[in-house]
Amino acid sequence: MTSITIPFPDDWHVHLRDGAMLDAVVGYTARRFRYAMVMPNVVPPITSVADAAAYRDRILGSAPSDAVDFRPVMALYCSDAIDLADLRTGIADGVVAAVKYYPAGATTNSEAGGTSLLAFRELFDVLADTGTRLLVHAESTDPSIDIFDREAAFLDNQLAPLCEAMPELLVTVEHVSTRAGVEFVAAHPHVAATVTPHHLARERSDLLADGMRPDLYCKPVINSSEDQAALVEAVTTGDPAFMMGTDSAPHPTTAKYGPKAKAGVFNAAYGLEVVADVFDQHDALSQLGAFVSGNGCAIYGVEAPEHTLELSKETMDKDLAAELSTSAGDSVVLFGTEEASRWTVR
Ligand SMILES: [Zn+2]
Repeated sequence: MTSITIPFPDDWHVHLRDGAMLDAVVGYTARRFRYAMVMPNVVPPITSVADAAAYRDRILGSAPSDAVDFRPVMALYCSDAIDLADLRTGIADGVVAAVKYYPAGATTNSEAGGTSLLAFRELFDVLADTGTRLLVHAESTDPSIDIFDREAAFLDNQLAPLCEAMPELLVTVEHVSTRAGVEFVAAHPHVAATVTPHHLARERSDLLADGMRPDLYCKPVINSSEDQAALVEAVTTGDPAFMMGTDSAPHPTTAKYGPKAKAGVFNAAYGLEVVADVFDQHDALSQLGAFVSGNGCAIYGVEAPEHTLELSKETMDKDLAAELSTSAGDSVVLFGTEEASRWTVR
């Protein structure tokens, strides 16, 4: 039996939503992860320190009491609504851990986002001054660019000029999805990246070849097998610039399976098993702890966790849930049941 003990993981990119959905999903993250970088694209977006503190209180209020060491950390939503003095205060007080940039219209609740990274130069000066990371959804919204090329286009046209203008700015490319993204991170010493379980474990044929799979539809879209291989190589070789960010993003099945599927994969439940399975397939379980814990701790300057988790690959009869229900009557499909059937987490 294959078994490995890893430091208690952190999730550096997660959507916890609000209200009934928050209540239904927060336990999955709170029981499996320590730090959780909570994305601010709720409605309305989190753009002030008061909003961030109130949202963190709602999250902690909804979290189960048996969570081991759950520590949600908050990002503000990059927009003109952010007051720079308020941002400085939030950073100094430890309420704001990062600022997240969304290109307007790129993904769920991104309508309030920006049209040009360089337009936020003054805000980014505050981040550079304080050593605070800018989190970037790196995806062009130019409809003339092929959807599978949009990450590379954004990196070339938007993020490269910003990194050149502000080489000291600390940047995280979120949910990196392509070989171009991996190469961009390698070429920029102040740029790190989160990688999702689904971009590591699936490629676009899984999404499209056997009928369109709304449960695998996310932004940026799952890309080619070539791109998947580049991501797997980056994480399984222990590259310290890459860390786990699940991008767990619940949507009600009614919104996923309608005519215009919402982008997002809910993987807080089984993402860890999915990632363990990828590392095991590449004989790289010894690097799993770095990816789910050590690299992120170094990138975000936080201490190593006190607790550990044990993952065992064993075939057991399990009653695995395939979806969850909210108190509002919605259901959400859980990603990774196949991998979760092969692994046990203790
Ligand atoms: Zn996200």
